[in-house]
Amino acid sequence: MKILVTGGAGFIASHVVDAYVKGGHRVVVVDNLSTGFKKNVNPKATFYKADIRDAEKIETIFKKEKPQVVNHHAAIAEVVKSLRDPMPTFDVNITGTAHLLLSSGRHKVKRFIFASTGGAIYGEPKTIPADESTEPVPLSPYGLSKHVGELMIRFYAKAYGFDYLIFRYPNVYGPRQNPRGEAGVVAIFGGLMKSGTRPTIFGDGTKARDYTYVADIARANLLALKRGKNETINLGWGKKVSDRQIFNTIAKCAHFKKKPVYAPYRKGEVYQIAITNAKAKKILGWQPKVKFEEGVRMTFATL
Ligand code: NAD
Repeated sequence: MKILVTGGAGFIASHVVDAYVKGGHRVVVVDNLSTGFKKNVNPKATFYKADIRDAEKIETIFKKEKPQVVNHHAAIAEVVKSLRDPMPTFDVNITGTAHLLLSSGRHKVKRFIFASTGGAIYGEPKTIPADESTEPVPLSPYGLSKHVGELMIRFYAKAYGFDYLIFRYPNVYGPRQNPRGEAGVVAIFGGLMKSGTRPTIFGDGTKARDYTYVADIARANLLALKRGKNETINLGWGKKVSDRQIFNTIAKCAHFKKKPVYAPYRKGEVYQIAITNAKAKKILGWQPKVKFEEGVRMTFATL
């Protein structure tokens, strides 16, 4: 199969590209290298340095490569940044997604896979873990942009007649996560502890997220090539891991003895969230495998 992966120089999608190449697929990567790195791109993939906001360039790539599947991961993926300055997030995550959908329709793409968010789309749900029927109530422009992306995908899939599969990710962690971003707490804390610096916890340490290792996420994207027609699927453990638990788990790996620095909560960040995996199990035969302690150990070894 020929698959066009956007954001394939970034953290998650570079692992997805590796899984596709390993599975014998031909892969085309489109990335503007704003937060991704050329060195992350699998050497067997064809690489285009291009911005998904550049409709003309995107159209030219589709015309030349004629992908059967589009796997869309390129985005501005930072909650706090989107609150400070929302327009770039809307521009990339909404307008960029629209360009990809229009080109997918024109060039008869068969399937569109999308990296949405389970961590930022549900807001503060009454029931945790949240399942896919929970109403999206995003608390940040980033979460809102992903919700709009989902709606556009469902609209154009119907209009053009291609299949879609929307994944709502929890917090994903693992090797290649950029510690300079704001979201990769495992990479950030791990990097700081390695250099003897005390990490900052925003809040009192009870803020909690659901953490899934990146290889598990890549495996779901591989399954998504064949299963799950027109579905929206959470990929979590269904379990909350608090900031304090994360700090302690990494500190154990790093033999770090100092205490964290505590700072006030940041506006727009969800307090606690975890998302289900029952639908992923039923439709894709997917469940996460890598336990948090093991994933942290493997990630820390690469920092
Ligand atoms: P990342 O920043 O490492 O990857 C994003 C990639 O997209 C980068 O390589 C970047 O250069 C590229 N990109 C950004 N803007 C672009 C543009 N205008 N044109 C072309 N390429 C562009 O982030 P990530 O953590 O790997 O996230 C990948 C996807 O998964 C994003 O869509 C994100 O919203 C989603 N997601 C991530 C998490 C997580 O925990 N990391 C959770 C939920 C959803």
